[in-house]
Amino acid sequence: MEGRPFSDIAYEQFLNDEKLMGSRCKECGALFVPPRPICIQCNGSEMEWVEMKGRGELRAFTCISVVPPSMMEEGYGRNNPYCSGVVELEEGAKVVARIEEVDTNKPEEIKVGMSLTAKFLHRDEGEDKKTFLVFKPL
Ligand SMILES: [Zn+2]
Repeated sequence: MEGRPFSDIAYEQFLNDEKLMGSRCKECGALFVPPRPICIQCNGSEMEWVEMKGRGELRAFTCISVVPPSMMEEGYGRNNPYCSGVVELEEGAKVVARIEEVDTNKPEEIKVGMSLTAKFLHRDEGEDKKTFLVFKPL
């Protein structure tokens, strides 16, 4: 895995293998998920792959009822909004992902600070297999 470029494509290939990977700057230790080839903190370009445990806490969220067609097919929409959240991983990186298994019709019951764990949603999109990262309560 060392040889893979720090790109979205490599990130998605890792997701297919149920690995949540980020890049860490060897200069200053900043961590990026999805990975970045260049550190935005120190401009360093020496990065290394690190695997995340997939545990984190909800930092912010929003429930969205206007959804794209692909999500309508999954049953999301006006009567069943989906939740998009910012999750701070134990390792310190923040990722934006869909939060599942929460009652989006009662957003007051979704708590900032709740513990979450990563889940890998595998989808066939025609020829392509795609894996989406989502989080659910622990
Ligand atoms: Zn850096």
